[in-house]
Amino acid sequence: MSKRRRLIVANWKMYGRLTSGLVLARDIAELAQSDRPLPFDLVLCPPATLTWAVGEALQGTPVVLGGQDCHTATHGAYTGDLSAAMFVDLGCRYIILGHSERRYGHGESSELVAQKVEAAQLAGLTTIVCVGETAADLQAGATAEIIEKQVRESLPKNVKTSNLVIAYEPVWAIGTGQQPSPEDVIVVHKLIRKVLGEIGETVRVIYGGSVTPANAGTLLREDEIDGVLVGSASLNAEGFWAIAATCQQGS
Ligand code: PEP
Repeated sequence: MSKRRRLIVANWKMYGRLTSGLVLARDIAELAQSDRPLPFDLVLCPPATLTWAVGEALQGTPVVLGGQDCHTATHGAYTGDLSAAMFVDLGCRYIILGHSERRYGHGESSELVAQKVEAAQLAGLTTIVCVGETAADLQAGATAEIIEKQVRESLPKNVKTSNLVIAYEPVWAIGTGQQPSPEDVIVVHKLIRKVLGEIGETVRVIYGGSVTPANAGTLLREDEIDGVLVGSASLNAEGFWAIAATCQQGS
């Protein structure tokens, strides 16, 4: 079992309205409720519109709140953006940054991601920094090169390792039902630790991309895989809990 505490993160993306989001959050919290503390960290990252209400619903439960993306500045004339401190105000402890849907959907560079990581860590958030190769990178045999470059360039010089999680999310595996083998994930996770240098053994490196209750077990039994970032399957309370419960024993 992993030396590091496991981390299970739900990325709800742009899904959920007030009623459905609250039902989902309450159902997950109820499944997670136990007499004993959870032996892993369980985080829900709803859309920004639901953050406050979901945070209220999670009060007194072992489930923690996170946000999706933030601006680099603390405040300013940035229509439509939210600062890291605003997510802290909403009760968030984690934030997802550098997701491929931001990198490729919004043209975010690794340099911008690094600035966001710095801003979010300064505000006190734990940053979940996503990296991953595209299908074309994979076919070109460039996975290692891309991952190394993204890890190096997406972290600020003064990165706080205690507030850092890296999520390896192959772009071709997100929402496609396709996945690398656990062995291939392990190779990339080891590379990420190597790039991180002396901090590599303490930072949690999690995997994301078409994780389901059916395949979570084969991923989470590996020491190198410190947790999972779950998109579609996190929109179903029982399914998401089944993924999380995979690391109930022995974590
Ligand atoms: C994601 O977008 O972070 C993700 C992992 O999505 P899915 O689980 O749907 O592949």
